[in-house]
Amino acid sequence: MALQPHVLIVGAGPVGLTAALVLAEQGIPIRLIDSLPHRMNQSRAAIVHARTLELFERLGVVDAFLGEGLKAHGIHIMDLQGRTLMRPNLDSLPSAYNFLLAIGQDATERLLTEALAQRGWTIERGVTLTALTQTPNGVTATLTHADQGSEEVAVPYVLGCDGARSTVRHQLGLKLEGETLDVYWVTADVRMEWNQPADELVAIPGPDGFGFASPLPGGRWRVVVDMGQRPAVLPETVPLEEVQAACQRVGLRARLSDPVWISPFGVNTRLVPTLQVGRVFLAGDAAHVHSPVGGQGMNTGIQDAINLAWKLALVLKGRGTQELLHSYNHERHANARRLLNFVGPATRMVNLRQPVAVELRRLVMLAVSELGLTSLLARRVSELDVQYCDSPVVAEHRQTTAEWLQALAADQPHPGLGDCWDFHHGPHPGERAPDAQGLKEAAGQPKRLYEHWIGDGRHQLLAFAGRQPSPQRLAALQQLAQGIEHDFAGVIRARVVCQEAPSLPASSLIDAEGDAHRQYGARYECMYLIRPDAYVGFRAQAAEARPLREYLSRVLGAPTPAWRPA
Ligand SMILES: Cc1cc2nc3c(=O)[nH]c(=O)nc-3n(C[C@H](O)[C@H](O)[C@H](O)COP(=O)(O)OP(=O)(O)OC[C@H]3O[C@@H](n4cnc5c(N)ncnc54)[C@H](O)[C@@H]3O)c2cc1C
Repeated sequence: MALQPHVLIVGAGPVGLTAALVLAEQGIPIRLIDSLPHRMNQSRAAIVHARTLELFERLGVVDAFLGEGLKAHGIHIMDLQGRTLMRPNLDSLPSAYNFLLAIGQDATERLLTEALAQRGWTIERGVTLTALTQTPNGVTATLTHADQGSEEVAVPYVLGCDGARSTVRHQLGLKLEGETLDVYWVTADVRMEWNQPADELVAIPGPDGFGFASPLPGGRWRVVVDMGQRPAVLPETVPLEEVQAACQRVGLRARLSDPVWISPFGVNTRLVPTLQVGRVFLAGDAAHVHSPVGGQGMNTGIQDAINLAWKLALVLKGRGTQELLHSYNHERHANARRLLNFVGPATRMVNLRQPVAVELRRLVMLAVSELGLTSLLARRVSELDVQYCDSPVVAEHRQTTAEWLQALAADQPHPGLGDCWDFHHGPHPGERAPDAQGLKEAAGQPKRLYEHWIGDGRHQLLAFAGRQPSPQRLAALQQLAQGIEHDFAGVIRARVVCQEAPSLPASSLIDAEGDAHRQYGARYECMYLIRPDAYVGFRAQAAEARPLREYLSRVLGAPTPAWRPA
């Protein structure tokens, strides 16, 4: 690429590729390097979760994933005798992607690489970052080419997406802090002779270790099995007979054959103290590692990349503040800590061996199932409950009680108590923007809300008209939407959402069934600013320009010329 790169992305695993894709969509010149001469061909992280699929939909790549992956609808957690302990089902997840998508990481990387190529960007392979230094104005990286010596490159920003052994992290002097368990597990892609349905995962937390199997496209299964005490040095591989014996021991009773990949690994729960040092950021395994319980590793890394890339793109275009950029560390470090606080204990729990502890675990699982709490578990695992409610860059505006009473006394428009209650139960700032059914533009077919955002990397301002808006209020909402879209051209798409609106511009969204109004608690006029990563950035009841503009100037700032490397 002839353009001077604004961002150097180190590592073309799923995380680096996703960051590259988002930055490319935003028109930011990048360099994406990877030391491997060829794409990795192992299936590693073999589950893509609902939230990642929602975000892939927005990036316009989800259909390719659905075309190759296998849908699994739940997880059957059983005891050694095959009795059900819990059976969380994903069918009722509030997402168009109410399933787990089984697809190998090699396929994930291939599909992301193809999407990037369609946007005109390629990976520079055989290029390794060996050193970096930074000043307040930029970063200088030393890159070693497999065949032609080395070069120094100056860029405004570097993203370290270079995996668990990250050189970028070492160069920053940061460590992955946490613990390594005294066990080792093996992962194997094999054929299994058994009668389990191929659309459900199986997990057996038994007294003799943990066993897990998940279907893969093409008829194989991914097995993860506890091999016992961790040796001083992990073996390179393990014979199939030993994997078979371990499966028998933990209750995965099937004949294994035809392995294509067997890999032993240690179980870590570790996190860096910060994801940002000056102009250098860490994402994915470079920043956090943990056991595969819940299949969260790659999904979390991909969502790190998305969270960071849209913010960085805005800052590079002079349309985002440093506060916005710093919120990457705030939001995603807190998320990683929360994840480790879930996966760490969950891993310890599946690792229990003492008979009393094993019995207690069985009772806890049965209780969770009996109390109907498995849906919470499903939401957690699918990452639909990720939220940034305490982020410094999310906010809301509501009338104070005094303002409300004043409006009431003066007989001015104001929300009723029921309207306030509804709005209170809409998505809060920092929460996932709910998808909604049946929204159409004047000339189009009804689509889901998320479908209206495909391929659009801008913030989305939804100005809800509420029930029976007056013509004056509709006109005011339209004026507000037009003003914001004009002043934040290329950054915000603003639309009025109304239940019926014969006289509004064609770009307005008609919510004829009222699903979006219901999901967003919009009985009374209100507005939501949805970020490019589909979280609520700002909301207000009563769609007034002033509080929104105050928020925007704090987070997006005034337009300034973009930084250019000297
Ligand atoms: C054996 C195994 C099994 C796994 N199973 C699961 C699972 O079942 N579920 C799950 O969620 N996760 C699993 N994982 C973890 C999952 O693979 C990672 O979470 C995921 O790969 C993280 O993606 P990443 O892009 O951050 O890093 P990586 O995929 O590690 O990619 C990093 C890239 O950076 C490149 N690189 C490294 N250093 C440099 C450098 N100095 N210069 C240039 N390039 C560099 C590497 O070549 C690599 O391509 C597994 C991992 C392993 C190893």
